Amino acid sequence: MTTKKAAVIGAGLGGLALAIRLQSAGIQTVLYEKRDKPGGRAYVYEQDGFTFDAGPTVITDPDCLQQLWTLSGRDMADYVTLLPVHPFYRLCWEDGYEFDYADDQDAIDRQIAEKSPADVEGYRRFLAYSKEVYREGYEKLGTVPFLNFWSMVKVAPQLIRLESHRSVYSKVAQFIKDEHLRQAFSFHSLLVGGNPFQTSSIYALIHALERQGGVWFAKGGTGALVRGMVRLFEDLGGQVKLNAAVDQVTMSGGKADAVVLRDGTSERFDMVASNADVVHTYKHMLRGTERGTAMTKSLEKKRHSMSLFVVYFGLKKKHPELKHHMVLFGPRYRELVTEIFGTAKLADDFSLYLHAPSVTDDSLAPGGSSAYYVLSPVPHLGTADIDWEIEGPKYRDKILRYLNDRYIPGLLDDLVTVRHFTPFDFRDELNAHLGSAFSVEPILTQSAWFRPHNRDDVVSNLYIVGAGTHPGAGIPGVVGSAKATAGLMIEAASA
Ligand SMILES: Cc1cc2nc3c(=O)[nH]c(=O)nc-3n(C[C@H](O)[C@H](O)[C@H](O)COP(=O)(O)OP(=O)(O)OC[C@H]3O[C@@H](n4cnc5c(N)ncnc54)[C@H](O)[C@@H]3O)c2cc1C
Repeated sequence: MTTKKAAVIGAGLGGLALAIRLQSAGIQTVLYEKRDKPGGRAYVYEQDGFTFDAGPTVITDPDCLQQLWTLSGRDMADYVTLLPVHPFYRLCWEDGYEFDYADDQDAIDRQIAEKSPADVEGYRRFLAYSKEVYREGYEKLGTVPFLNFWSMVKVAPQLIRLESHRSVYSKVAQFIKDEHLRQAFSFHSLLVGGNPFQTSSIYALIHALERQGGVWFAKGGTGALVRGMVRLFEDLGGQVKLNAAVDQVTMSGGKADAVVLRDGTSERFDMVASNADVVHTYKHMLRGTERGTAMTKSLEKKRHSMSLFVVYFGLKKKHPELKHHMVLFGPRYRELVTEIFGTAKLADDFSLYLHAPSVTDDSLAPGGSSAYYVLSPVPHLGTADIDWEIEGPKYRDKILRYLNDRYIPGLLDDLVTVRHFTPFDFRDELNAHLGSAFSVEPILTQSAWFRPHNRDDVVSNLYIVGAGTHPGAGIPGVVGSAKATAGLMIEAASA
């Protein structure tokens, strides 16, 4: 049997995980990445001696990563070290209430009992629910490709029993009465681009996922995980091409046959997988084809996740009083989230995620100083037509002032370096449709079979991997999508 050749377009975590799986299975794989470094949303900025992870920092389900090494009998520890993070997050509200969201059952029970004694029992029932959804939704179905409607029908009874038509927030509210605690156990869907008031309660599984597998940080930053994955892929014989934007996937006889780069060079392949934004894939790379046109029409009608505004900054002092991951809730929750997902303007208030990795890892900032990023969920470009060239610097300063006044005294005086990333950058740097940070929004009617499929329905050797396909965004999501997609490609290659 001749060796099959595969192209993977995009070196995001999903593309990398897929490339590793294909190469491990003996498929000769070439990974094309538009930018000068791999990682996609997990890109790394190095500036004035500071190292800033651009995106994912909360690593959950380390086993899904571990598997990428065990496939080829290698040891992940030779490539990357994961450090546990405690507490998982500190959650802070403007009224001064703080909740340390941790792995420690006693600490959780004690904090809930202090805040709202009646909710201790409710939390236990919520945890049991979350564990059940985790087993049904993640363990059983997270890496299974939903290619036909029948596959959806088969899981319908479980979805009905778990009341997946309800939202995450409404399910949490069924168990927990206190509003701060309701927010504490429902905000997680925002981490994968879902509105807690609209996303299916299936996403309540994130709580069990974190409790079960812990929250981890890669020593040296998420960039070290990306580098470890690239090294593994290359050690297996795979080839990475950076600064290699794919302009087109060409077809012959109804099949993808080659990729053409922006510089005009092209290479032929037996199979092609795209980790690039799913709308960009069909609209741009398959332009002029019947399939590209049809899929673009259907995808553009879907709802897309919100965008993010991210500020990376370095301070000349350390702040050991901070926690590694902090969620800073603003004065409004439901109203703010509703505006982010549906109002054509930037809200005056915000809720923020603050990443303070120097608390865990000294290597990311020069001696005595500390590295951070802070992100604010904002409407995508189809919801709010904001000129981020003008608004970006103003919004950056407003967020930094807020942090200076409430959480990091002296921040403005100690600031030594800063940069920011706007919805325009998601659109232009990452080719993200509408500048969405998480691709197709994870609502029930856009999940599993209703999501773009891991293998195209018509072009039988064209595959999708990453946030835009099943199961969806987040590290475990895109690494799980790689397993689902790789299974199909390896089966096709050996047929
Ligand atoms: C700021 C931020 C924070 C996050 N935090 C977390 C977190 O803490 N934990 C977590 O689990 N998840 C987090 N997420 C979500 C997670 O990062 C993403 O869902 C995941 O990394 C997306 O991976 P992906 O495989 O879909 O590829 P992407 O990261 O989207 O990468 C796609 C790649 O394709 C490339 N590309 C695009 N077009 C072309 C082309 N024409 N030719 C070649 N290459 C192309 C892009 O340059 C990019 O490198 C976060 C996301 C963001 C934005």
